[in-house]
Amino acid sequence: MNAKHTLNIPESPLPRLVIIGGGFAGIALVKALNKNDFQIVVIDQNNYHTFQPLLYQVATGGLEPDAIAYPLRKYVKRFGNLFFRLAEVKQLEPDSKQLLTTQGVLNYDYLIIATGAQTNYFGNDNLERYTMGMKTIPEALNLRSLILQNLEKAIVTKDPLKRQALMNFVIVGGGPTGVELAGALAELKRFVFKEEYHDLKMDDMQVFLIEGSERLLGGMSEKSSKNTLDFLKKLGVQVFLNCRINDYDGNKVVIENSSSIASENVIWAAGVKATSIGGMENASTGQANRLITDAFSRVKGFDNCFAIGDVALMEGDPHYPDGHPQVAPVAIQQAELLAKNLSRLVNSKTLQSFKYRDKGSMATIGRNKAVVDIAGLFFSGSFAWFVWLFVHLMAIVGFKNRVATLLQWFSNYINFNSALRLIIRPYQPKK
Ligand SMILES: Cc1cc2nc3c(=O)[nH]c(=O)nc-3n(C[C@H](O)[C@H](O)[C@H](O)COP(=O)(O)OP(=O)(O)OC[C@H]3O[C@@H](n4cnc5c(N)ncnc54)[C@H](O)[C@@H]3O)c2cc1C
Repeated sequence: MNAKHTLNIPESPLPRLVIIGGGFAGIALVKALNKNDFQIVVIDQNNYHTFQPLLYQVATGGLEPDAIAYPLRKYVKRFGNLFFRLAEVKQLEPDSKQLLTTQGVLNYDYLIIATGAQTNYFGNDNLERYTMGMKTIPEALNLRSLILQNLEKAIVTKDPLKRQALMNFVIVGGGPTGVELAGALAELKRFVFKEEYHDLKMDDMQVFLIEGSERLLGGMSEKSSKNTLDFLKKLGVQVFLNCRINDYDGNKVVIENSSSIASENVIWAAGVKATSIGGMENASTGQANRLITDAFSRVKGFDNCFAIGDVALMEGDPHYPDGHPQVAPVAIQQAELLAKNLSRLVNSKTLQSFKYRDKGSMATIGRNKAVVDIAGLFFSGSFAWFVWLFVHLMAIVGFKNRVATLLQWFSNYINFNSALRLIIRPYQPKK
């Protein structure tokens, strides 16, 4: 094979297994795979893994971005037949078992698609253009800059309407991301901005949380939804339920009942869709473009091609007829089973089907405020908050990141202030 066709991956007597995506699913698979069975190539468009659950803390200055990112090369350093390539996969050519990437072409014997999900704007170009997404570290940093820039602009403008638009924060989507962001912004206003922007009337800063369904945190218990609503209201967040956004032009949010909110800070956390790659057009897809797989993660209609994590919609589990929730534990558990099944496959053994073990869900609203649903128990408040902190701390990838996060959280807790509010890379809003 021509070297330019191999992304400089050496030939090997072992079958080549290519993993697209170094997210939760991709790295769990790398960890669990038997390295003697395959030559393994991980491809990602970033050279780091992102711990998405804490992105909102980067956006609100609670954590440094480095604390929630982990270099993917650290996973490959110890194994001779494990390779990482920084490239975006553009196209799959299933007949020739090739991937076309931004760095060249790569052949595979087994392909694992673990490309995750991206923000879904439901075809509305204005929302895509003018609202802020919250799926990646660059997006979280953009949001951090925008929040701080707009407060600086609010101080100097003489136009009261413009000032109010700069101080109105509208978050669309009442899932965990929207709730956590709304709580963090309300606390910033209360504990930090009121002191540091004493020359701005901080009572004018408004945080709106807009949710299309009848309750927040729709994936959690009704009790947790209600507690979350109460917590947010106490923090001064204006929550609108059963409310949908029709449009946003960069200045004004149009709500479906024809009311509107003037805002230059609109965060879109209202939906995701699977991140597909070209060449999969003939694959069967389900809701939000997810690739339909069988209970062994095999993509329907494609040979030796598997999909795991957010991108996959696994059929066959009667408890999850619309697919499993797009959360990290599903991605990790699917990856761990797939690692075992791939070994079984090459050794001609029977494959095991996937069963999701739901260990519960949780969300934090702010200092000493969280909600947890575990094994039929629902609790909230300080204890839930400590459970949330502990679980997230343990889940962060890398010992150094865990220590950095713990120290930062401790400092934030005792000082009521993180001091990470730097506009290092100014954000240029699209107009
Ligand atoms: C803001 C936010 C908060 C969340 N909070 C929680 C939470 O509290 N608890 C929870 O369990 N889950 C949470 N989730 C969901 C959780 O992060 C996802 O379920 C999980 O990341 C899915 O893992 P994955 O490996 O499928 O995808 P990802 O982790 O998204 O990884 C996909 C990888 O694929 C790479 N990639 C994509 N396309 C290409 C391409 N064409 N070429 C090369 N590389 C590519 C990406 O760069 C990325 O590294 C949250 C998600 C977000 C966005």
